[in-house]
This record gives sequence, C-alpha cells and structure tokens, in this order.
Amino acid sequence: MKMRYCKRCLQPDTRPNVVFDDEQICFACRYEESKATIDWEAREAELKAIADEAKAEAAKRGNIYDCVIGVSGGKDSTFQALYARDRLGLNPLLINCAPDEITEIGRHNLDNLSNQGFDIITIRPNPIVAKKLARKSFFERGNIIAASEYCLWASTYIMSVRFNIPLIIQGENAALTLGAAKNQEPTGNAFSVTQLDTLSQQKVEDFIDLSENITEKDLFFYKIPSVAEMQAMGTKAIFLQYYTKEWSQVTNADFAVARGLIGRQDDLHDLGRYRRYTALDCDMQIPNQLIKYLKFGFGYATDEICYDIREGRFSREEGLWYVNEYDGLCGQKYIDMACRYLSVTEEEFWETVDRFVNRDLFEKKDGKWVPRFTVGTDYDSEA
Ligand SMILES: [Zn+2]
Repeated sequence: MKMRYCKRCLQPDTRPNVVFDDEQICFACRYEESKATIDWEAREAELKAIADEAKAEAAKRGNIYDCVIGVSGGKDSTFQALYARDRLGLNPLLINCAPDEITEIGRHNLDNLSNQGFDIITIRPNPIVAKKLARKSFFERGNIIAASEYCLWASTYIMSVRFNIPLIIQGENAALTLGAAKNQEPTGNAFSVTQLDTLSQQKVEDFIDLSENITEKDLFFYKIPSVAEMQAMGTKAIFLQYYTKEWSQVTNADFAVARGLIGRQDDLHDLGRYRRYTALDCDMQIPNQLIKYLKFGFGYATDEICYDIREGRFSREEGLWYVNEYDGLCGQKYIDMACRYLSVTEEEFWETVDRFVNRDLFEKKDGKWVPRFTVGTDYDSEA
C-alpha cells in the first residue's frame, strides 16, 4: 500500500474519506486557504438571518427556546452556546449527552458552562446498553466509542423534534476541519451529519444484536430522526464553524479557558497529544486514538499539528517533532481503564487490537508495534 502526505500539512491520505487534489494538497488546507477570500460579512449576515428566522419561528410555535445545541461543556460547545446567546441573541436549550463514566474534568466543565446561565438537559443513555455497544464496536470495528458517537449526534436532533425547536446549531463540519469531504458536503448544513461515515456506511441498526439482547428500542437515542421530516417541520441545522471566521480549535480553547474550562493534567505522553483541551469528558477517547493510530498511521497529535500548520503557528518541518514525540501514545492507566470498561483482560485487549493493525504500516519489534513509515514522507510498503 501507499501512504501519501499532504504537501502543506502532515495529513496522510489514510484518513477515511479524506480528499487530496492533483497537487497533493488536502481539502482542509484548501479550505483554510479559501478562508482568505470568503466574504465573512456576507456569511455573518446569512447567520444573523438564520437566527432571526429561528426567533420568529419559535415565537410562532409558542416556544421560548429558539435553538438547541449539543454540549459536552468542552471548548467548542462553550463557544457555541455563548456565541448563540450573546452574539446572535438566541435563547438556546443545551443538550448534554453524558458519556458513560464521565470524567471529573468533564463534570466540572459542564457545570462551568451551566453556571454561565443556561438551561441544560442531560441525557444519560442506559449504561448497560452503552457498555454492550462499546464491546460490540470494539470487537467488530476496532473502535471503542463508535456507538456512543451516534448518541452524541442524534440526541440534539431528537430533542429539537421533541421540544419543537426550529434551529440546531452544531460546531464543526469534519469535511472542512479534517478534509474528510468524500462523504459529507463541505457546507454549513448540519443535516449532512447523516452523510458521515460513522453514520451512513454503517447504520445504527447494525448495532441491533439479539444474541446480546440489544434491540431497536435500546437505540432510540442513537438514531437521528428523518431529515425530510425535520425539514418539513421547518427545522434548520447549521455548523457554526462555516459562518464564523474566528472558529478554530485553539481560539475556542482560549475562549473557553478564559471562562473557566479546565483541561487534562496528565503527562502529554499519556495523552498522545500535545494540547490539553480536547476529549475531556470521556477517557475512552484516549485508548481509541491509539487504535486509530495503528489502523491508519496517524493519531490525535497529527490532527493537532495539522490545525497548527494550517493556521500558521508552526511550519510543516517544526510539526514533525510533535508527531514523532506524541502521536499514537497512550498511558498504561488508560489501557487499564479500557480493559476494565470493556471487561476484557489486557491480553484480550491486545489480541483484538492486533486484528486491526495495518501490517503495511506497522511491524512488531520486541512485542511492540513500531511504524515502518517516516512521518511526513510518502511511503510505499512495496518499495
Ligand atoms: Zn493539508
């Protein structure tokens, strides 16, 4: 197999659904470049019009809430909630889909957001079902959190229908941020999440497993309502990122930290990343990134450095050190947590992970998977 890197950032083309152009530049870099010529005033005017329409529509429906926002209390959702209320004058109902075994930091951050003066509804999906789903997606897909991601997305749409609220405000469109634009349109339309690979190629119904006693009714909060029906109700769903020039992982973190967000305190080598403000409410995301790294040859530090390169904080050359230093690492305590959560021994954990390791990209040396590729250099396993 071949693995090519974007010539501008350090994104490899092994990311599922990533788009590279003829000059071997990734779609996310092209989007970043296009931001210089986007008419941001026009976009902001468009956003204001959407907000005004939602206010009018909510009034017509006799609803005091005019938008729903899915929140974890993390950097992006803190920015979204405050932007919606303070810049757009909306009255948001915040929906929190609590991860199984929420972390202490996650709880603090959610309280911190709540204390800025918001109504929050927390949905706590059945933990017995959540654990069965995590085990199933771990064994079948090599992904611990795949099932919980359905719930994170779906809960906001479900609550917009149930509370009859006309606007859904999501944060980031992965097609723009990560360049994964093959399966999702790179626009502000957040109904497109139903096009995402985790949501479309593998339907939520695939998790039904009668042998494990997982039935359709267990998946209510995992399933996005019909987009056609939501649109027929007059509901809109947008990605705030598309409309706001200042949206960025780093500036959102600064914004949220200034308002009380706290990050992880670990050694960065245990996190496999070099910033402290992502994936704060759920520890399973950390071992999950380790598995992602072994499947595709990149982990979360690569994502972080790509944002930094695109936004001009580091050169591609400088970025190599960060990726080589942190990518794919995961502290033993997080592996222990994953084993306990999944009810597997460490031996069973690695047996399962080993089934998903890309042998063209990694080889085993002294019992450890080590990369056969050099970060940032195009690689051909046949050569
Ligand atoms: Zn790129």
